Amino acid sequence: MERIDVAVIGGGQSGLAAAHTLLRHKLQPMVLEASGGTAGSWPRYYDSLTLFSPARYSSLPGMPFPGADRGRYPHRDEVVAYLTAYADRLDADIRTGQRVTSVRRAGSEFELTLDAGGRLTARAVVAASGTFGRPHRPALPGLEEFTGQVLPAADYRSPVPFTGGRLVVVGAGNSAVQIAAELATAARVTLATRGPVKFAAQRILGRDLHFWTARTGLDIAPLGRLLPRPPAQPVLDDGRYRAALAAGQPDRRPLFTGSEGSKLIWPDGEREEVDTIVLATGYRPDLSYLTDLGGALDFEGKPRHREGLATSVPGLAFLGLEWQRSLSSNSLRGVGRDAERIARRLAAYLARR
Ligand SMILES: Cc1cc2nc3c(=O)[nH]c(=O)nc-3n(C[C@H](O)[C@H](O)[C@H](O)COP(=O)(O)OP(=O)(O)OC[C@H]3O[C@@H](n4cnc5c(N)ncnc54)[C@H](O)[C@@H]3O)c2cc1C
Repeated sequence: MERIDVAVIGGGQSGLAAAHTLLRHKLQPMVLEASGGTAGSWPRYYDSLTLFSPARYSSLPGMPFPGADRGRYPHRDEVVAYLTAYADRLDADIRTGQRVTSVRRAGSEFELTLDAGGRLTARAVVAASGTFGRPHRPALPGLEEFTGQVLPAADYRSPVPFTGGRLVVVGAGNSAVQIAAELATAARVTLATRGPVKFAAQRILGRDLHFWTARTGLDIAPLGRLLPRPPAQPVLDDGRYRAALAAGQPDRRPLFTGSEGSKLIWPDGEREEVDTIVLATGYRPDLSYLTDLGGALDFEGKPRHREGLATSVPGLAFLGLEWQRSLSSNSLRGVGRDAERIARRLAAYLARR
């Protein structure tokens, strides 16, 4: 059986940042990536997506985001190209088409099973498999009985297939508002939320918000440990989403109270035919392969960790979790800082053994 130093599970921005920092700490990472590429979930994000952070605040460690205009908001495809180039430049063993199906203890090491049938042993493991593979489906009144289409936001690409339709987008975060506003250019759309949508200005005093979160230290403040759960993020807006909602495209309504066939029931009792409900209700860490590793996950499948280091499994670390350490943990600009931290800790742990 092949024996490796550190197995990094997932070859998106988190796995690549992990590989970069592990190499700097003289460890040999092997990145195991389920898909055929090295850009994580970015190729699967919807077609019109641009980064919410300018290029100058969107780099992984060791390689600036390219392009002369550092203030622009790069398109999804630029991120895919950037991550692919980043992976190509890494002097690490990156294996695509390799899904890890389970991780177990094997003495003081770990044994990984791959869906292709292979097995590996590793001295340490970094779980960097993201959240996109596990969209959250909340218990909503009437959702299970609704006979129309229910589409997770993860499966949304563009408004074209929905032209002329009637859609309800559930959620109040960035994806929900962006998708609802885009769909409203082609269809009749309602944004259904539990409460009012909260906005944050993309620019303050002529500067992008990320200038201020970096300048004030908010980006790196280690607040993750203090928060019982990640707080809801406001919708970043340069004015267009507020204007779209004010114009009723989409309109906003409180959540529906039930369904009858393909009709939704609104709180005022109105019954309305709806073609599609889009669930933009967030994601959860996709870590089921750690189930056999006693103590790695809690009863809800969430990682048990302190700032990315597993609390009861020595040699195991997580990367790319929302609020893993700070506001910027699950972002292009912030994951490198967390990667450095866990690489340093794993190197010290392995040196002690
Ligand atoms: C719609 C959307 C827009 C976003 N916009 C921004 C933005 O503008 N700026 C920003 O900084 N952040 C943004 N984010 C947040 C975050 O940066 C991205 O979600 C990013 O893709 C997270 O990177 P990751 O490497 O942690 O996870 P992913 O990109 O999801 O990569 C995880 C990888 O692990 C692989 N994998 C999963 N399970 C296994 C397994 N068992 N074995 C092997 N491989 C596995 C997957 O195939 C995938 O390639 C956005 C997120 C979303 C959903």
